[in-house]
Amino acid sequence: MADSYLDTTPDENGFFGKYGGSFIPPMLEEPFAQIQKAYQELKNSPEFIKELKYVRKHYQGRPTPISFAKNLTEHCGGAKIYLKREDLNHSGAHKLNHCMAEVILAKHLGKKKVIAETGAGQHGVALATAAAYFGLECEIHMGEVDIKKEHPNVVRMKILGAKVVPATHGLKTLKEAVDSAFEKYIETYDESLYCIGSVVGPHPFPMMVRDFQSIVGFEAKEQFMEHENALPSAVVACIGGGSNAMGIFSGFIDDDVELYGVEPMGRGDKIGEHAATLTYGQEGVMHGFNSIMLKDENGEPAPVYSIGSGIDYPSVGPEHAHLKDIGRTQVGLCNDKEAVDAFYKLSQLEGIIPALESAHAVAYAMKLAKTLGKEKTILVNLSGRGDKDIDFVVENHPIPHAKF
Ligand SMILES: *Cc1c(COP(=O)(O)O)cnc(C)c1O
Repeated sequence: MADSYLDTTPDENGFFGKYGGSFIPPMLEEPFAQIQKAYQELKNSPEFIKELKYVRKHYQGRPTPISFAKNLTEHCGGAKIYLKREDLNHSGAHKLNHCMAEVILAKHLGKKKVIAETGAGQHGVALATAAAYFGLECEIHMGEVDIKKEHPNVVRMKILGAKVVPATHGLKTLKEAVDSAFEKYIETYDESLYCIGSVVGPHPFPMMVRDFQSIVGFEAKEQFMEHENALPSAVVACIGGGSNAMGIFSGFIDDDVELYGVEPMGRGDKIGEHAATLTYGQEGVMHGFNSIMLKDENGEPAPVYSIGSGIDYPSVGPEHAHLKDIGRTQVGLCNDKEAVDAFYKLSQLEGIIPALESAHAVAYAMKLAKTLGKEKTILVNLSGRGDKDIDFVVENHPIPHAKF
């Protein structure tokens, strides 16, 4: 389809409506222009597509299945709930979909190293995995505070051969890790590629990461037809930066399917207690792009919180801001308590332990299912598995007795 949404959005400057673009220091303009040019050339290159297809099938284990959540559906008593199983993608989440492609891009550009920042460590682990497979060096910048907090992911990155560089200034968390990674990239861009972990950052990253994740939606559309011989009534995904949501939305964006992005309400609606950016945020530029963001009283990025450490980001991918503005997508909300409840429900009713991030989408789908008739269907993007969360969950929220 020549005029499909994905082919025409964003525009050539990376704008989704008024959101997106590229707001970067002059010394980054050249390397980002290089990335943009390389991606435009590569995305239609048969060699690139062939390599991506190969690793998806023979290394990542794609396509990941769609499972009908029969017991959960009966428990909710409404619309049928299906799960797109990104928890079964190698390394346990959807993130490897864009990391593998970013590292192939780095390789084609003749770079020998990939650089990124990480907050909770999930992006760092996925990128370290991809770099190990393709034989590139990997350098992950991480706040010193996060290094202590997310010890298992730091160990994973090191086992995978990555170098973990602590960011030691300021609050020593994600923002400082971004600064530190950008500094290093500016010094070394001849030999390295900066790899962003979601549909955020300056152009072309929001588009590129969406395109790399769109495999989730394209597979899902075909697989869902196999189950129901129809499209789903609604598609539900959690939103941090928004890559897993854009991935699955991509398959249904031109169709008559309702799309819900679920934001974390954390512990309440006061600033600092949630990360519901699209719901409570205002327009602003952060991390090199224009979008909706949560600001404090000084107009700076506000502190954010969610039990899902991969979705506590004070901004959101510009495409999500645009799709909400034009009414193509809707925002759902889910708090910590509902997410933990869904975490246990999915575990005990379906034998699937979801990531706490993904549990937000499951929880919202459960609420939505109850409001819809039995003839309706909901497809949830189960973005990752919950192994990383089990210790934290059981220590803070006792395991409920299953009642059957
Ligand atoms: C990182 C992560 C997310 C949030 O990232 P998006 O870019 O919003 O998809 C969601 N789920 C899992 C399992 C993650 O690791």
